[in-house]
Amino acid sequence: MGITLQNINKSFKNFNALKNINFSIKQGELVALLGPSGCGKTTLLRIIAGLETASSGKIYFTDTDVTPLSAKQRDIGFVFQNYALFRHMNVAENVAFGLKMKPRSIRLSKTAINERVNQLLGLVQLENFAKRYPDQLSGGQRQRVALARALASKPNVLLLDEPFSALDAKVRKDLRRWLRDFHHELNVTSIFVTHDQDEALEVADKIILMNQGQIEQIGTPTEVYKQPKTAFVAHFLGDVNLLHGYIENNTLIIGDFQKDMQAQGNWADQSAIAYVRPHEISIAKTARKNDIQGQVVRIHTAGPTVFLEIAVAGQPKHIDVSVSYRQYEQQHVEIGDHIYFQPILINIFVQDQL
Ligand code: ATP
Repeated sequence: MGITLQNINKSFKNFNALKNINFSIKQGELVALLGPSGCGKTTLLRIIAGLETASSGKIYFTDTDVTPLSAKQRDIGFVFQNYALFRHMNVAENVAFGLKMKPRSIRLSKTAINERVNQLLGLVQLENFAKRYPDQLSGGQRQRVALARALASKPNVLLLDEPFSALDAKVRKDLRRWLRDFHHELNVTSIFVTHDQDEALEVADKIILMNQGQIEQIGTPTEVYKQPKTAFVAHFLGDVNLLHGYIENNTLIIGDFQKDMQAQGNWADQSAIAYVRPHEISIAKTARKNDIQGQVVRIHTAGPTVFLEIAVAGQPKHIDVSVSYRQYEQQHVEIGDHIYFQPILINIFVQDQL
């Protein structure tokens, strides 16, 4: 089931929490709603679920206008951050709960419910935990039970609100991978809220990046990471170096480095800041054509990656360059060395956009 949002706005008294939200999600996509705390992610998810009403705008599930429908009528599976399992019921009873509560006329038989529960517990790899109570499970296991329960009645859409944020780092990482594989198997249109960039980049087919109640950018993880449309997106999705320079005759100039920017449009002559991811910089110990020159002031090793902090004349901050440990050893880089580098992949944001 595809989902389309048209001009969704939400105000709480005088505060506009969501401003003109528009997007479409395809059947079977796994989408991350990503953004900093307070940007409106949860409010938007609750509006899609029918737990909150929009001040204006429309929501379609495929071609059906579901705006006036209640949460129940929308046929949605919901997973919250804090498990929300019934403590006095065992795992199987928790998963079966929604199925047993259905009106008699559409309720499955007892045998069919048992079969469905077993199938779901297999899906979330908890077959041997059916008789355990929530208190006897780890956080990650509880969240998998919550997922099985949300999927019990075969919803059209699965919504997850920060599903892993209460878990420790290692379990979170495992569950991310698991969710991705699990989603491929299931193919149910799913939206999960997160404020964790890595989680969104690793898990989602598509990221909707929000800031202050608005959408900043929508795209695949690669698109939003490599081609951020705004300085906010570039910063939010990972480390960036800001190289200060200017544009003249459609050419970006940073010290001795020059790059024709016409492929990215027509530029007025103005000062500009180039955004470059640390690993999108190529370094050498001897000068090449078009290199920027600097001096290594610090070296931090972080496992297989080494960060070189480089001071460059005319730049207000040191530039971080990440290289593989192998390259670092081969080049014999030491503090105080003169080094030459140039950016490989650049995004430019002219100063009046900052
Ligand atoms: P977080 O990651 O911290 O959960 P979020 O991006 O999910 O944040 P929301 O919970 O959607 O953000 O809140 C968006 C904004 O709307 C916030 O400024 C919040 O204070 C405000 N807000 C949310 N619910 C209400 C409410 N019922 N009444 C008034 N303001 C609200």
